Amino acid sequence: MDFDDTPEEAAWREQCRDFLNRHAELLPSEVDLSESYWARAPSAAETAAYAARCRKWQRTKYDEGWAGLTWPTTYGGRGLSGHMAGIFAEEEARYDLPMGRFSQSIGMAGPTIIAHGTDAQKSKYLEPMLTGEQTWCQLFSEPGAGSDLAGLRTSGVLDGDEIIVNGQKVWTSNAREAAHGMLLVRTDVDQPKHRGITYLLLDMTSPGIEVLPLKQPTGRSEFNEVFFDNVRVPLDCVVGGVNRGWGPILTTLSNERAEIGGQVSYVGDVIELARRFEVTDDPVIRQQLARLYTIVETMRFLGYRVRTAASRGEQPGPESSVLKLAASRRLELMGDLSMAIMGPSATLYGADALFDGFWQNYAFLGQWMSRIGGGTDQVQRNIIGENVLGLPQEPRPDKKIPFRDIPN
Ligand SMILES: Cc1cc2nc3c(=O)[nH]c(=O)nc-3n(C[C@H](O)[C@H](O)[C@H](O)COP(=O)(O)OP(=O)(O)OC[C@H]3O[C@@H](n4cnc5c(N)ncnc54)[C@H](O)[C@@H]3O)c2cc1C
Repeated sequence: MDFDDTPEEAAWREQCRDFLNRHAELLPSEVDLSESYWARAPSAAETAAYAARCRKWQRTKYDEGWAGLTWPTTYGGRGLSGHMAGIFAEEEARYDLPMGRFSQSIGMAGPTIIAHGTDAQKSKYLEPMLTGEQTWCQLFSEPGAGSDLAGLRTSGVLDGDEIIVNGQKVWTSNAREAAHGMLLVRTDVDQPKHRGITYLLLDMTSPGIEVLPLKQPTGRSEFNEVFFDNVRVPLDCVVGGVNRGWGPILTTLSNERAEIGGQVSYVGDVIELARRFEVTDDPVIRQQLARLYTIVETMRFLGYRVRTAASRGEQPGPESSVLKLAASRRLELMGDLSMAIMGPSATLYGADALFDGFWQNYAFLGQWMSRIGGGTDQVQRNIIGENVLGLPQEPRPDKKIPFRDIPN
């Protein structure tokens, strides 16, 4: 395989740089990490300012035809291959730009609606995602259903042309800001667990929804609990058919893994940290730095595979699990290594710590975002074992029995 750009790719990369140069500055070679959004828990005003910057940049991309590069042109996208979009992402990551906030909307809900939604749903929801006007949240996990998502118990009862929802979700990232949610409900307890689930597009302003923030160890509150008390959702918000939610769910989950694993990453800052603490001669640190570098490079090449598959119009499959697992390994190693490099001063926190605790927050405590969110490392290993390596399936004694017979 030739990893150099083809003439067509090189020309596209130049176009990307032209566009980016018009709107942003390249990241300086030495970044002040204490200025990073990840250094400490931001105040409400800082969070709002960051969100506004993200929206503004997304709007600029939309106005100039650079949003949703892989999406169909009919829905405001550009109809390009995943590979070309990947080149843009690589270039965009080199600039001082705010790029959070849209992974649930553009990265997950959008591809699901494009693949399984009705024409009316596509017309209504897709464009406001691309403009950055509306963000989404993912209402999947429940107190008793995380890894075993098909065990979810939030109920949906059909009533005329509506579904009435009661129950609770948890770990819902960004639910307080979201305009819409991807909501899963159990609509038929007589069917086996994977078959009685319905996928709904929820208006988060509907009466009966209560969102309560959860505090994380980093001091942030991105997560929420979401409670539903007789929330009425119109039937035209169903994706893929009543009781037929599992197909759209798999689309959302594989896009989520590709999204988490596809983030452009680098090791430069950790090497800089090692230089600062004068440990670059330490053989153990050197070995760990080399391991980290190897993982980052492996991720880059895995990313090419995922992008090549996407450019052939294929949905991301088990390779997105491999990529996500690699992303987790990277954060795990980066977290442990940065603490080892900093030695006793790693035990400082907040304003007392180097860069206001960037490494403690982002790399050490933050590693769990990737290692648990979007499916845990152990669950990714199961998927890889079964779907890539062809190992025997895990015993799933409750897979074929009616859901009502599964003990709660
Ligand atoms: C940063 C972050 C963001 C998140 N955002 C969202 C969100 O926006 N929306 C949402 O719906 N959810 C979200 N989640 C929730 C996430 O999807 C769940 O936490 C995750 O799926 C694990 O579920 P659980 O927490 O219930 O753990 P459990 O499923 O109870 O797992 C507990 C432990 O058992 C292990 N385990 C479970 N089953 C198996 C198995 N079959 N084989 C081997 N080991 C197993 C797990 O690996 C884990 O170590 C988020 C989580 C994080 C960390």
